[in-house]
Amino acid sequence: MRTLINEITGLVGQEAELAGWIHARRDHGKLIFFDLRDRSGVAQCVITPEKSFYQEAGKIRPEWAVRVKGEVKRRPKGMENPDLPTGNFEVEIKALTVLNPSEPLPLPIDGDGYEIDESVRLRYRYVDLRRPRLNKILQLRSKYARAVRDALYDNCFTEVETPMLTKATKEGARDFIVPSRMQPGKFYALPQSPQQYKQLLMIAGVERYFQFARCIRDEDLRADRGFEHTQVDIEMSFVEQQDVMAMVEKVVRQAVTQVGGKIKQNPFPVVAYAEAMKKYKADKFDLRTEEEKKEGVLAFAWVINFPFFKKVDRADVAEIRDGKSGWTFTHNPFSQPMPEYLTDHLAGKNIGDILTTQYDLVCNGYEVGGGSIRAHDPEVLRATLRIMGYTEEQIEASVGHMLEAFSYGAPPHGGIALGLDRHVMLLAGEESLREVIAFPMTSGGQTAVMDAPCPVDPQQLEELHLKIVEKTVKGKK
Ligand code: ASP
Repeated sequence: MRTLINEITGLVGQEAELAGWIHARRDHGKLIFFDLRDRSGVAQCVITPEKSFYQEAGKIRPEWAVRVKGEVKRRPKGMENPDLPTGNFEVEIKALTVLNPSEPLPLPIDGDGYEIDESVRLRYRYVDLRRPRLNKILQLRSKYARAVRDALYDNCFTEVETPMLTKATKEGARDFIVPSRMQPGKFYALPQSPQQYKQLLMIAGVERYFQFARCIRDEDLRADRGFEHTQVDIEMSFVEQQDVMAMVEKVVRQAVTQVGGKIKQNPFPVVAYAEAMKKYKADKFDLRTEEEKKEGVLAFAWVINFPFFKKVDRADVAEIRDGKSGWTFTHNPFSQPMPEYLTDHLAGKNIGDILTTQYDLVCNGYEVGGGSIRAHDPEVLRATLRIMGYTEEQIEASVGHMLEAFSYGAPPHGGIALGLDRHVMLLAGEESLREVIAFPMTSGGQTAVMDAPCPVDPQQLEELHLKIVEKTVKGKK
């Protein structure tokens, strides 16, 4: 087995076998120096002229993949590099194997890379990711995901997967639809979230569920957001609002601390929506001081007491579809209203005043999670959709399966979804979600490295019973 580069610090005087990429090379007089990089770090290697492979070594260039054998030595006095963890050491190479040469890279990877054109970074993402900054972020993301999982397992949660090919869900965005080959003219939808399945799991007796869920929403793309994101999706039975909030807080605190993150205030402050709007003019806000911003502190807070409904935004196709009466939900149609508004809710009165059990988790100015206590009484969900203008038939067609499921002893339940990408972005001190996703989309919705969306074979279309029709605008093609 090879030695990892950061392990050489404990191996002075011994032989080590390393493998990685040529990070940089320098010729000093007769000596050839190069920095070798692997996932753990970078170390200086040196080749002296009497070596049989000295000539061949002269040809190696940055980013070639190589395997080397050599002796770990202390660097001569005055030659140390205090910026590198391995900076007091070097490896004198005794054998060198070129595993694969590399063309000159299409983009430099020795800096942070923020200044490089994004389309180039994403087209060659596998090269861009070699950048130590991004490599560290991938490792942080993995560690944080593990810490969250561990915290959930510590609290007796069960991890369950739910289908990717499903029926349209209501999360307030457009669905991605998938044509059925077997049933011409019928379509699946990709899940905007596992919301309904996780509620069905509560009826199934799971009691404490979680999933690292991919959620797919055909939303207008904002600067740093693609069509998919990852949620830590959580649901619990026999709970009230403060139970879910306390559990989520415990899990987040444990996981953030585990990866070395600093939290400003425990327990997290709780702010009412109306108060937040008055004080911060927004339902997400940044509680950090300038000093804390520099120190990378995370300032979590809860926002509660949101209105259940809002007037439909006429520019939003999904809202027009969901809010047939001119009212639509602010967060989640499956939520339970606050107890004091239940009577009005059931009667469809004073709609604009009804508050919901929704709780949002905010951090450093971003929404990083959101959830609610759910309606488990079919009449409450029915009333929600009635307020949104659904007829009895439309209610049945849309959520009839949920109403039916609620009739079999559905326990009171509630949950949350945490935005994993945003959590990692804030932990890493990054400003764009794309910096913490291995293969993000471009801002135009084009996939990284692979060219999608792209046309498909006419034969494939035929098999799916699809025909592409050019849209005609006012008589023009
Ligand atoms: N399903 C909700 C969402 O994706 C989160 C939740 O209420 O659990 O935003």
